[in-house]
Amino acid sequence: MKLIDIYSNSNKTSISFEIFPPKDDLTGNNLEKLFSEVEKLQQYNPSLISVTYGAGGSNKEKSYNIVKGLTENNITVMPHFTCVCSKKEQIDEYLEQLKALHIENILALRGDEPKDISVCYLDFRYANDLVKYLNEKTDFCIAVAGYPEGHIAAPDLITDIKNLKNKISAGGCVIYTQMFFDNEKLYKYKELLEQENIDVPVVAGILPIRSYTQLDRMLSMAKVTLPDKLMNKLEKYKDNNDDIKKIGVDFASEQCQELIDNGIAGLHFYTLNKSDSVSKILDNISY
Ligand code: FAD
Repeated sequence: MKLIDIYSNSNKTSISFEIFPPKDDLTGNNLEKLFSEVEKLQQYNPSLISVTYGAGGSNKEKSYNIVKGLTENNITVMPHFTCVCSKKEQIDEYLEQLKALHIENILALRGDEPKDISVCYLDFRYANDLVKYLNEKTDFCIAVAGYPEGHIAAPDLITDIKNLKNKISAGGCVIYTQMFFDNEKLYKYKELLEQENIDVPVVAGILPIRSYTQLDRMLSMAKVTLPDKLMNKLEKYKDNNDDIKKIGVDFASEQCQELIDNGIAGLHFYTLNKSDSVSKILDNISY
């Protein structure tokens, strides 16, 4: 099913999940574990599952194998696809592989730049270049990334939104947001998008917090703020992961229910390849 159809019903909030290629471990059965987690999540009838893709195609093969495995199980997939440090020929080659799987949707991204950008092939400088190329060369429904508090490298939120508008003008039809924890920031962001005449569906990126150190690492790489009340609770229980997971589930359940009640088009869960927290959240909310 195409993104445009998934998000066409404004009275319904769609549920979707992000997974990533797991690191190899000594047992070598990480992919099996991942597919078993996906199977548990399938009971919530997600509209799609998205699969991350490393900047510069670093985990291309693993990402492709997961996308293939999901399509073989008749699951709607949205592969992520990055263009930084990739040559046009490499991009063409991967697109052909995806087309052969009858993929309908794609999340077009720049990817994080390496420190030394001069080592990169710059056929595509920003995600909007990739969106334009995909729009001309393929029939994919193209999603793009949005940042409710601004992208970490953008000088300010308004400049970032103007850059986002280029991605939409080039053919982006849905915005998937970076994680955020303050719904007011998302509502304000949607208002600013409206003022820029960006009227495509906005899908909220939800991170169920599972570990203090993991969250801390993620926050250091993004412009995302935590409400003081949540931060204080996490600080208090930071050494006990079970407590942190419970706080994460309780917080995300409230956050998601409020977003649904305010008519959000979709909730996209950053599952971190685990089904337990996401399942609890979905059991707690009505959608
Ligand atoms: P862009 O839209 O190109 O924006 C990047 C920066 O450049 C922004 O600061 C923007 O304001 C600025 N910019 C854009 N156009 C211009 C211009 N013309 N002139 C000057 N500045 C400009 N990363 C991965 O490696 N793999 C993944 O699978 C992945 N999945 C993601 C999924 C989601 C939902 C999100 C939100 C992010 C994901 N990322 C992923 C991270 C993403 O690749 C990084 O945040 C990256 O730094 C920016 O990607 P982008 O597509 O938003 O880039």
